[in-house]
Amino acid sequence: MQLKELIRKKREGGKHTPEELAAIVNGYVAGEVKDYQLAAWLMAVYFKRLDEEELSELTRLMWRSGNTISRSQSDAYWVDKHSTGGVGDKTSMILVPLVNAVCDRVLGKGKVKIPMISGRGLGHSGGTLDKLESIPGFSPHLSPENVLRLLEKNGSVMMGQSATIAPADGLIYALRDATATVECVDLIVASILSKKLSENINGLVIDVKCGSGAFMESTERARELANGLVKQAGRMNVEAVAILTLMDEPLGWSAGNFIEMEECADFLSNVSAEPGLREVTLTLAGWMISLASRKQISVGEARAECETELTHSRGIQNFREMLTAQGGDWEAFERLRATWRNELLKFPVTATQEGYLHQIGARDFGVLIGALGGGRDTKESKIDPFVGVEFRKKVGDRIEVGQEIGTVFYRRDSDFPVIKEAVGRAIQIERGPVTKKPWVLECLQGDT
Ligand code: URA
Repeated sequence: MQLKELIRKKREGGKHTPEELAAIVNGYVAGEVKDYQLAAWLMAVYFKRLDEEELSELTRLMWRSGNTISRSQSDAYWVDKHSTGGVGDKTSMILVPLVNAVCDRVLGKGKVKIPMISGRGLGHSGGTLDKLESIPGFSPHLSPENVLRLLEKNGSVMMGQSATIAPADGLIYALRDATATVECVDLIVASILSKKLSENINGLVIDVKCGSGAFMESTERARELANGLVKQAGRMNVEAVAILTLMDEPLGWSAGNFIEMEECADFLSNVSAEPGLREVTLTLAGWMISLASRKQISVGEARAECETELTHSRGIQNFREMLTAQGGDWEAFERLRATWRNELLKFPVTATQEGYLHQIGARDFGVLIGALGGGRDTKESKIDPFVGVEFRKKVGDRIEVGQEIGTVFYRRDSDFPVIKEAVGRAIQIERGPVTKKPWVLECLQGDT
């Protein structure tokens, strides 16, 4: 099969057979299809799209390019959550221990497993793995045996994509990143689901971020992605729900790596929970628990169970157990909490006029944290886990001149002008009040 002919076929809007798609995907993984050929094909897909059958086949081929986590306990319900990426999005670290605690109490110990595979920061959006790795000692790299052992023992695991999990996605994603073909709904659906299918899950809750700080800026595009994900997951026998949530301003009180882990610990200890973060987290958690109960528990009831759990201490205990089970040193985390702020430079973000806070640009702050060293320029870059931003005000708040909106923590004097410029762009204050959009915008369910 001549690759050039397959590229031409898609360029002209033709439909691929499963054999043709296999030649492209398997050929690329085997090194027989060259980067320039796949790049041309990806761009053809970007413009001419894939139909549902082609998309299912592409997803299946990418998933089958690697291993699937084998299941030890057949009667447990395996559930996960995925986010399409945002700024300050720390819901995974809160959800996993919280859902685990509620499911153990309400559905019975061991009845639900959460085998979460997460990614690193991408572009302006933060990465769950980078946040977890800011805990001294924590490792997301686990052997298949260890994954099963931890699922058996604790009911959950938070790991990174290994070379054996959907390797086709790892290779194709890197090329998409370099060829401006990331923002294609079909390619995003295949990429996300190929990894999630490798977890052998029964149910999946997908947080499709929507807004100026998300990959999908408009509601229409986010809805299209949500629909594609739910439909394709259903074709693969995974019960899926997609929730469209707002990503115009950073989620919660902080954005960065270590600073977000602190916020997770405070949330789970019931010390403080920013209302937007609480709303998004409890909605996603409610859906995960409802799916895991095989809809015996409604989303509302599941949310109420989460609220109850937060007033007890099981969530934070699970959080601690989960981190320590993967090498995390809890005492070192607590010691660092007491000291790290003293070691960084601080840029106070203050109001220059009175009025109402209309904008805290998520994308601006995400890009800024990356530039300060909290994200990666190249795959090999080492990140600084401590740079980040702490917010004291949220969009909609009334503000007086000189009042502190937040603090940027940074390390290098030379970054001062970059911060000043980014903050000037990100913050917008106006005289009149703001009509705040809801954090949870829409919910789409599949038919399975
Ligand atoms: N996240 C993924 O895993 N893949 C994409 O293509 C985009 C976001």
